[in-house]
Amino acid sequence: MDFTPSAKVTELSGRVTEFMERFVYPNERAHYEAIEASGDRHHRPALLEELKELARGAGLWNFFLPHPGHGPGLSNLEYAPLAAIMGRVVWASEVFNCSAPDTGNMEILAQYGTPEQKAQWLDPLLAGKIRSGFSMTEPMTPGSDPTQLKTRAVRDGGHYVITGRKWFTTGAMHARVLLVMAVTDPAASRHKRVSLLVVPIETPGVRIVRALPVFGHVSGPGECEVAFEDVRVPQSALLNGEGEGFAVAQARLGPGRIHHCMRAVGMAERAVEMMARRARTRMVVGGLLAEKQMVQDMIATSRIEVHAARLVMLHAS
Ligand SMILES: Cc1cc2nc3c(=O)[nH]c(=O)nc-3n(C[C@H](O)[C@H](O)[C@H](O)COP(=O)(O)OP(=O)(O)OC[C@H]3O[C@@H](n4cnc5c(N)ncnc54)[C@H](O)[C@@H]3O)c2cc1C
Repeated sequence: MDFTPSAKVTELSGRVTEFMERFVYPNERAHYEAIEASGDRHHRPALLEELKELARGAGLWNFFLPHPGHGPGLSNLEYAPLAAIMGRVVWASEVFNCSAPDTGNMEILAQYGTPEQKAQWLDPLLAGKIRSGFSMTEPMTPGSDPTQLKTRAVRDGGHYVITGRKWFTTGAMHARVLLVMAVTDPAASRHKRVSLLVVPIETPGVRIVRALPVFGHVSGPGECEVAFEDVRVPQSALLNGEGEGFAVAQARLGPGRIHHCMRAVGMAERAVEMMARRARTRMVVGGLLAEKQMVQDMIATSRIEVHAARLVMLHAS
């Protein structure tokens, strides 16, 4: 397969790289210092909004959506090199309005949302004005098999009443809306039991319990445990019909999982660069680290592994 980027992607890659060099890398320290100074690990520094304005003004915005009406209209494969560049700084994707879980939520709102859902939630998400969460995974069922979900959404007149518990809802702390997967028909076939509901975060009964640690680390956006206690939403909250939740979620998770890989490749590229730079400047017994054969071998091995990961990621894209 030929992974040579198109002229359009080459041009965009150059512009995203230039933006990162001018505005993102020089602000990395300030970003973390602002979080530190706030005393709240979930604090969102004002700097983020300033950088978003700059990126949006420069037309470096919403690269992830294939629909040309919402951005440059790139395929998943074309998006990959851009996501890798943004992934070099863990919070940079948001600067370009390309961060999870908003990206996946925008994809399905764009594809399946009613005109009202689009006006209320998609438009402000596309503009980077609000954030959102995706509540699928539950403590009591395997996240790898969402056909087993237990959270219920029971019809009550013109409403659904949602009861259950989710966890790992990334970004719930700052979200204005959650897309919630809940069982509407327990007796239906495996892939038709679940529906997706659009739930404003301030709906009575939605309660953020805590942000969970992942490998001992509690992230800025927060992987949240969220309780749904008799949460009443109108029938119009349904996204793409009853029983369609599994299919819609797959449409979202397919590209979404690869997007994580794209960012991880960029992050790994940067780690190798940092390793090589360190080796060229660190004097140890008998000379520079870079002159030690074992160190050269480790750096070369890492370089090969990252390149292989990039090719696998591009192939999957
Ligand atoms: C940083 C982070 C962010 C996340 N963000 C979100 C989010 O925003 N929204 C959301 O809903 N969820 C989110 N998740 C949850 C994620 O989707 C789940 O962790 C994932 O789907 C796996 O589910 P689980 O943790 O319940 O593991 P399980 O499904 O219980 O799997 C446990 C282990 O069993 C293995 N396994 C499963 N099935 C099989 C099988 N058939 N054969 C062999 N091995 C198997 C798995 O590989 C895994 O190692 C997030 C998770 C993390 C770590």
